[in-house]
Order: sequence, then structure tokens, then C-alpha cells
Amino acid sequence: MAHSDLFAQRTKAMKASEIRELLKLLDQPDIISFAGGIPDPAHFPRDAFAKAMSLALDETSAGTSLQYAASEGYGPLRTWIADYMQTLGVTCDIDNIIITAGSQQALDYLGKLYLDKDDTALVEWPTYLGALGAFNAYEPRFDRLNAGENRTPDEIQNAARAAGGCVKFSYLSPDFANPTGKTLSRTERLAVLAQADALDCAVIEDGAYQALRYAGDDVPSLLALEFAQKGTLEACRTIYCGSFSKTLAPGLRVGWVVAAKPVIAQMVLLKQAADLQTATINQIAVNHVARSVFASHVETLRGVYGARLAAMLAALDKHMPDGVTWTKPQGGMFVWVTLPKSVDGRDLLEKALDARVAFVPGSAFYADGATTNTIRLNFSMSDEAKIDLGIARLAEVMRKAFLQ
Ligand code: PMP
Repeated sequence: MAHSDLFAQRTKAMKASEIRELLKLLDQPDIISFAGGIPDPAHFPRDAFAKAMSLALDETSAGTSLQYAASEGYGPLRTWIADYMQTLGVTCDIDNIIITAGSQQALDYLGKLYLDKDDTALVEWPTYLGALGAFNAYEPRFDRLNAGENRTPDEIQNAARAAGGCVKFSYLSPDFANPTGKTLSRTERLAVLAQADALDCAVIEDGAYQALRYAGDDVPSLLALEFAQKGTLEACRTIYCGSFSKTLAPGLRVGWVVAAKPVIAQMVLLKQAADLQTATINQIAVNHVARSVFASHVETLRGVYGARLAAMLAALDKHMPDGVTWTKPQGGMFVWVTLPKSVDGRDLLEKALDARVAFVPGSAFYADGATTNTIRLNFSMSDEAKIDLGIARLAEVMRKAFLQ
């Protein structure tokens, strides 16, 4: 039989991620890869986790850590997160917080919670590929978030209605976005909030990289700005998705959502139905590690990744041929490179792999896949010397490609 004939209609929009397919090819040690988007395992807080796991499994704690637990998440960890959110300018209590299996699960749940078929999700252009993948399962229409600059909210909403739904949310990563590395200014953030007010839609703020700033001054999160405007989280349309993946370790799969209580209560029901709860022992371990080393560990990462970002920007300056431009991020893990219009990042990748250097072509990050002359470079996984060598190789490949 052909199982695929029986698959639900909504699966038709799902496709294998270009990045995951590509990452499988990158095991060869002589390739310098700027393709991944992952933290450097050399800088996982391994000792702190070893201690935390051993504490979680001691005689008095094992009965809890190996047991089922509440769908909303482990109380002491939610308390730590509430205190952390306070340092970001948001006052909340633990009923405003649900623990998820990474922020990726939060994106899936939020898609499930808000999107009927043909509803519109406003996203940055380009945006995080994993968000497109998560939302796609609910068969939305994507529209450009930044087009708000030259279209009125009425025009945006009318286009959404013509497509058979309405605008349900804006999704964005305002700090050091994946893939561009860009950060929105306070004015731009206020404009996003004003647009959401005019559209009467929710705002999903992806804070995955917010803690990883290496230069410049913090800009308050969308949730903090809205909280300051409205005085209570219950009046806020912003839903903040946080993650321990980039600050501690992604393998534990622990993230969180902060939002008004009705949103969290509904997400708890989704979680009960989907996977009951995030792994108890992982939440307990993250709680121990967050309480013991979060601040100092993030400081260490800022030093390590900040030096790598500086090395990448210097190498780009030194090696790149004319006609190539790139973002100048102040944090995160990525630099976004724009090639001359005629050059397709996917073709360039084939040539680059021959020269033993890899990156991710940019087209997959656009909801319409239409822009092809961009590439994403990751700097968190290579040391400074490798970064210089890899960018030199890439520049050489570009020079040859541009001449053709
Ligand atoms: N959002 C962004 C912008 C990301 O880059 C990632 C991971 N690459 C995620 C969310 C998901 O991270 P996690 O599920 O590990 O928290």
C-alpha cells in the first residue's frame, strides 16, 4: 500500500529541511563548516550538569526526578525563570510560565494554538527556518512583517482576509536573529508592537539568542516594552519564548514561554495532549545548573563567541571580493552575507564544498524561497584561526564564481 496516499492534507506543506540534509554531509574533518547553528560542545557546562544529575538522582531526589510531573513544568525552575524575567523588566508569576521541550516545541504549540488553515502569520523575510517548519504544519499563509513600513495595517489585514483567514500573530526574533544576526532598535520594536495593536494580533517573540550579546547595549525585549506600556502581563499581546539551548545546552531540551495566563493555561492543555510534560530530570538538572552557574557561564560564552564574531567580521573585511556585503551583528551565532544578484547561494555551496568550506544557502529562510543571493555563516563552532582560513577559502570560491 502507499501510506503517503493516506497522509493528511496538512503534511503536503512539510518538507525535509535543506539544512538537516546538508549537515549529514559535513562529517569530513577537513571541511571548515560555517553551516551549523549549534553551540560549541567544548563549552557546555559539563561539570555543573554532572553534579546536577547526580544530585537529581540521589536517594532523596530520585523519586521526584524519575517520576511524572506537572505539565506546566517544575516549580523551582519556573520560579528561577520568573526571577530571570524580572531582570529583563517583566514582572510575572509562575502561572505565566510553561516549560517546553526547547523553544521549538513552543513554536509548534503556538502554531497549533493560533493558526487555522489560511490564517496569516507575519514573519521576517528572511526568518528562522524552524519557525516556518513549525507553523507550516497548520497550513498558514505567510506575509512580510517588515512590509508594515509601506503598507497600512488595513491593507495587511485585507490581504489576509482575501486569503481566507486573518492575521493571527507576528513572529520575530528581535535580538541577533537567525539567520541575519540583526537586532531591532527600540523604535523598530515599538513599531512592531504598534502594528500588532492596529492588527489586533498576538506577537511571538523568539528570545533564543537574547542573552548572547557581545557588544553594544541591551535593548529591552518586546515583552518588556509592552509590559512597561500596559503595566500588567495580562494585558500584553506578546508571548515570549525562551530557551536554555544556547546558554546552557540544547540536548536537555528545556525552554519556556512567558505570556498572559489564558495563553499559558491553553498551552498546558496542548502539552498534556502532546507529551504530558518536559522530562522531569532535565528540568531539575537545568534548575540546579541555572542557579549555580548561569550568569558566569553566559559570561564565558560571551567572551568565546564574541572573539569568534570579531574574527569573522575581520576575515570578511580582509578577504571578501567587491560586490559582497554582510551584516555586523552584536551577538548571536550568525552573519548574513548578500552576494551579487546573479549568484545563487546553492550553486556557490557546491563549489565551496569542493574547496572544503560550507555554509547554508539563504533561500530556505524566506517563506517564499524566492531570494537566492544570500548565505548564512555560523561563527560559534570554529576557532579564530579556522574562521580566517575558512573565509579566505570562501572568498576564493566567490572570486572564481563571479568571473563565470
Ligand atoms: N529559535 C531560534 C531563532 C533558533 O535558532 C532555534 C534553534 N536553532 C530555536 C528557536 C529552537 O531552539 P530550541 O528548541 O533548542 O530551544
